[in-house]
Amino acid sequence: MAELQETSINELRAALRGRVIQPGDHDYEDARKVYNAMIHKKPRLIVRCADVADIISSVNFARQNGLLLSIRGGGHNAGGLGICDDGLVIDLAPIKYTRVDPTAGTATVGGGCVWGDVDHATHAFGFAVPSGIISTTGVGGLTLGGGIGHLTRKFGLTIDNLLSAEVVLADGRFVKANAEENADLFWALRGGGGNFGVVTSFVFKLNKIDMIYGGPMLYQLSEAADVMKWYREFIVKAPDDLSGFFAFLTVPPAPPFPEHLHLKKMCGIIWACAATESKAAEMFKPIRAFKKPALDLHVRFGHELPSMHSTMHLYPINGAASRVGKSETAWNYRDANWAQVMVGVDPDPANKDKIISWTKNYYDALHPYSAGGAYVNFLMGDEGGDRVKATYGDNYERLVKIKNKYDPDNFFRVNQNIKPSAKKS
Ligand SMILES: Cc1cc2nc3c(=O)[nH]c(=O)nc-3n(C[C@H](O)[C@H](O)[C@H](O)COP(=O)(O)OP(=O)(O)OC[C@H]3O[C@@H](n4cnc5c(N)ncnc54)[C@H](O)[C@@H]3O)c2cc1C
Repeated sequence: MAELQETSINELRAALRGRVIQPGDHDYEDARKVYNAMIHKKPRLIVRCADVADIISSVNFARQNGLLLSIRGGGHNAGGLGICDDGLVIDLAPIKYTRVDPTAGTATVGGGCVWGDVDHATHAFGFAVPSGIISTTGVGGLTLGGGIGHLTRKFGLTIDNLLSAEVVLADGRFVKANAEENADLFWALRGGGGNFGVVTSFVFKLNKIDMIYGGPMLYQLSEAADVMKWYREFIVKAPDDLSGFFAFLTVPPAPPFPEHLHLKKMCGIIWACAATESKAAEMFKPIRAFKKPALDLHVRFGHELPSMHSTMHLYPINGAASRVGKSETAWNYRDANWAQVMVGVDPDPANKDKIISWTKNYYDALHPYSAGGAYVNFLMGDEGGDRVKATYGDNYERLVKIKNKYDPDNFFRVNQNIKPSAKKS
């Protein structure tokens, strides 16, 4: 890394409407935190970008000074890919706006929004964009990796609802990407992660939906094999309006959960139904009526959940998401029924080894039965290039060509990296 002069940092500062945060500043420790508290990266500069001009200045500054660059959207990436050691972090958090156009049926969303911001803005108009399952995940990372959530079966992945994006490229140029302009880049952004540039704003298609009916239905852990077997057959044939993901969990010690279940390890299905209340009641009848059988591999790891926050979720990705062709977007697993995530989480660092070993053992036991690759947003930061290649399957070579065109020097590499073949870094 080139030696950074205070004078050049001052020049950057003068060019910005946002702030530069450096080691020693009162808020540096807070500014470098991400969702996963096991990540302790120490950037040289964190730029809280206020607008697109700030992003262009930051990209040019990092490139001209040979600094590694990372892009922080919501900071939720489990591998901590929103932040980097010794480099420059573009922190998009201040770029927070959602403009709903009910006539056009679109929402324009600033690159620093989290999904709660979008839900808040669209719900007031009776619309939604399909996103994930919680409100604090960043729009940027979740969208660019694909986007799986409660409305996937009805409206597809988040990227299936992306109409256009505005992007700052590695050379500092600002471009639009959609079906008409830079269509190759638009294809790659829909699943290819942060490999191609900094997305400053997203335009999403709005879907008419006012209310969903749902919530968790919990079962004893001893019934897990039964529940899974029934659920596996039920959900792939269920109407698109109905979604539900399977989970092993520890019941939170708070309402609305009854006290006698608090902190109990259980399994459950978290339902979300987008039909009208009366249709939803009909759809839930067979769910309430089903019965139970035996034990399997999953159940062993369910019993061994190592902490209250650790969990396993099995998300259905069939329905509308599976009716998009494998090569229509960079996201390749259109023929898979499930995306599974095993999450070892605990606020106490003393439990680190316990949760890592549970997660790794679970992964090792199940992986031989998986489709091979992964959902890019569920990968950690250190799983290696082969996992990334397997994830994109037949779409990988096309992604490399687009990377060669838009980022031949692999400037954007703090991500699940698609390496350019033109030049290697
Ligand atoms: C508690 C939790 C719940 C989750 N739930 C879901 C879920 O329901 N569904 C689902 O699909 N995923 C889910 N995820 C995974 C999530 O999609 C990824 O962690 C995603 O990377 C988070 O995006 P972010 O913007 O918050 O991440 P960040 O850590 O800020 O960034 C992650 C990556 O995205 C890139 N990036 C972010 N914003 C931009 C941008 N504007 N332009 C270019 N690149 C950008 C960065 O380069 C970086 O590589 C969840 C993760 C957590 C921790």
